[in-house]
Amino acid sequence: MKKAPLFDKSQQELEKFCVLKGFKKYNAHQVMRWVYFYQIFDFTKMTDIPKPLRDELLNNFHTNLPEVVNTIYEDDINGYSKKYLIRLADGMTIESVLINYNNRKTLCVSSQIGCKMGCAFCETAGLGAGRNLSSGEIISQILLISEDIKEKITNVVFMGMGEPLDNIVEVEKSLNIMSDNKFLAIAPRKITVSTCGLLDKLNDIEKFKCKIAISLNASDESTRNRLMPVNKKFPLKNIVNLINSKKPSVHNKITLEYVLIKGINDNISNAKELIKMFSPSKVKFNLIPLNKGKNSIFLKNFERPGDDAIEGFKVKLLKAGFTVTTRFSKAQSINGGCGQLTAKTLYS
Ligand code: SAH
Repeated sequence: MKKAPLFDKSQQELEKFCVLKGFKKYNAHQVMRWVYFYQIFDFTKMTDIPKPLRDELLNNFHTNLPEVVNTIYEDDINGYSKKYLIRLADGMTIESVLINYNNRKTLCVSSQIGCKMGCAFCETAGLGAGRNLSSGEIISQILLISEDIKEKITNVVFMGMGEPLDNIVEVEKSLNIMSDNKFLAIAPRKITVSTCGLLDKLNDIEKFKCKIAISLNASDESTRNRLMPVNKKFPLKNIVNLINSKKPSVHNKITLEYVLIKGINDNISNAKELIKMFSPSKVKFNLIPLNKGKNSIFLKNFERPGDDAIEGFKVKLLKAGFTVTTRFSKAQSINGGCGQLTAKTLYS
């Protein structure tokens, strides 16, 4: 009989299995505790599980992790980034990026193979639509890489390949396991889900109390239409209305990501428009100067702004009272920066 991947099972699904086989519901919890909290994947070592249930698990499930095909490393004085090319069971490949700085081990996970959102400045979009990752394939990225570095992953960002809210069922399932303090135990405030703005799915994510980032990337509808086709379905004004209808929040402001592209959205007048639209009590800005691979044909029409333009844009927002960070993407030299993940080859 073909065995199913255990990592794809939710707690409820595993409980059903245990009860069906004549065991207790709480046995499922025990199994998941071994797998996710202790990261022991061998059923025979799960000593508090009745032997007949261990046999059933062995006969029905496997705990194989996907395979790391290649890695590439970028070092600097404060830490390092490491990009992993990972081959899934069906032979498809994805990338994950570990950013290990100042004792924070942040893993940038993929949620889809390719992406169908079509953002004009993103190389993953250049791959077109692929398939959704299963929750087990999302979780496996964490298990695999924490096994590789022999340490716990402390933070997770859904900023790898794909649009997480376009794969909401599996992403939710993975968030349940990730954020449960009895399983992978990554606190929700250390998890960020980044979306191009599929606003109808935002509620499903908000209930996890994790951080939410929305990729804004423009200060007017026509530029956003041009850069992000999703704007035709969920226009900028809907994002503005949704955010402005929320209560101000000190602890959980929504992050607005803004990829700065020379001559397209990096003018001071764009910063002024943002200031008019949003309130510093509700959002913070994360500016991401465009990443562009050396050989990028896909992004040939776009350039990264100069340092002065980046700084000027930041200062304008700061002076208006906003919290602003600039993300000089780590891992850029290894094409592991935002929007650079294509899983084609590690060295392209
Ligand atoms: N689909 C999700 C996650 C994408 S990656 C989303 O759209 O939010 C995370 C961030 O990288 C997004 O804010 C995206 O706008 C940004 N990004 C994409 N391509 C980029 C590039 N070439 N340079 C810099 N940032 C980029």
